[in-house]
Amino acid sequence: MKLFQIKSNFLILYLFTSISFGDTNNTIKLVKNNKLLSKIDTIENNNFFSINDFLSSIDTEPYISEKTEKVVFYLENKKIKITNGIAFLLIDDNIYQLSSKVIKRDNEYFVNIGSFIKIINSSFQNLSIMSNSSEIIISSKSKRNNTPTNNINVEKNKWKFSTIIIDPGHGGKDPGAVGYRGTLEKDIALDVAKRLEKKISKNMKIKTVLTRDEDIFLKLGERTKIANENNGSLFISIHANAATDRRASGFETFLIGPNKNAAAVRVAARENAVLELEGSSGEKLTNEDLIKATIAQSAFASKSEKFAALVQEEISKRVQGKNRGVKQAGFYVLMGASMPNVLVELGFISNLAEEKKLRSSQYREVLATSIFRALEKYEKTLDND
Ligand SMILES: [Zn+2]
Repeated sequence: MKLFQIKSNFLILYLFTSISFGDTNNTIKLVKNNKLLSKIDTIENNNFFSINDFLSSIDTEPYISEKTEKVVFYLENKKIKITNGIAFLLIDDNIYQLSSKVIKRDNEYFVNIGSFIKIINSSFQNLSIMSNSSEIIISSKSKRNNTPTNNINVEKNKWKFSTIIIDPGHGGKDPGAVGYRGTLEKDIALDVAKRLEKKISKNMKIKTVLTRDEDIFLKLGERTKIANENNGSLFISIHANAATDRRASGFETFLIGPNKNAAAVRVAARENAVLELEGSSGEKLTNEDLIKATIAQSAFASKSEKFAALVQEEISKRVQGKNRGVKQAGFYVLMGASMPNVLVELGFISNLAEEKKLRSSQYREVLATSIFRALEKYEKTLDND
């Protein structure tokens, strides 16, 4: 919905524009020098805006492939590509992670405003976009127009170890694995997560966020969204394992990565099965998705690996069970996390002996202590970077 035709080909360079939220909750205003340029469609409580409307407001023509559901456009000679249903954005073939998947509705493509702004700021030297709860201000970085935003500081703060996101797996209508004697994975995960949270709050000067602190159902995508919106420095998803072979036992920690090992793939399949309860069973992760996700996470992969190794080490110091090591597979819940991330499987509740241990609050306390000690050690390694 173009209301105003802009003549300059280099509009963005000179643009000092504010987009403020409109009166209704399904459009935002695109304002330039207090003049209304356009109204842009939004969805999901103003968290997503229509990229089609945005581009037409700034007089940029996208190329849209209906077949592959991709939108390609140019900003300052850089090629940007988004794809329906994918939480990645490509700028000149570099992959950036959006906090949520692109949504297509009535032939319009919607992107998450917050993460879109972040990516644009970090990728365009001449552009600065700021936002608060009520408006988004786009400006060019020129001598006449000094912006207070310092992207280097923003980047540094992002890596400061300040917030830990603890994600107790499953919950509500999704019990997760069910043990030999009926123990529910969701209860074990929540209990250990709460114990861990207490230890961190008591002993470390670090903010903690639990994705859930009660028995409620949370979609996998919502978990990473909470993590990203809270600018997490580390994401720990806590689970308990199950296998058809009742003899299987031990603890293991997973990283996201292309599927290599059949047993790891089975664990990921079980953990991803909740997608069916979410009504999105069609979104199976392909190996191509996983390779892309791995590339997108390359900036913090070594940190994820470091923490995963520490978790295994600290648990093995304190419990008798089998150390199954650090593995990788396609875990949907880790895929969208824009921070170092791991998924811990505390033990097999399908194994009678291990289920018995996991049912003991003393044992769960030991597990929480182990993860906490791993965190303390992990924090020390960050100081040396
Ligand atoms: Zn699980």
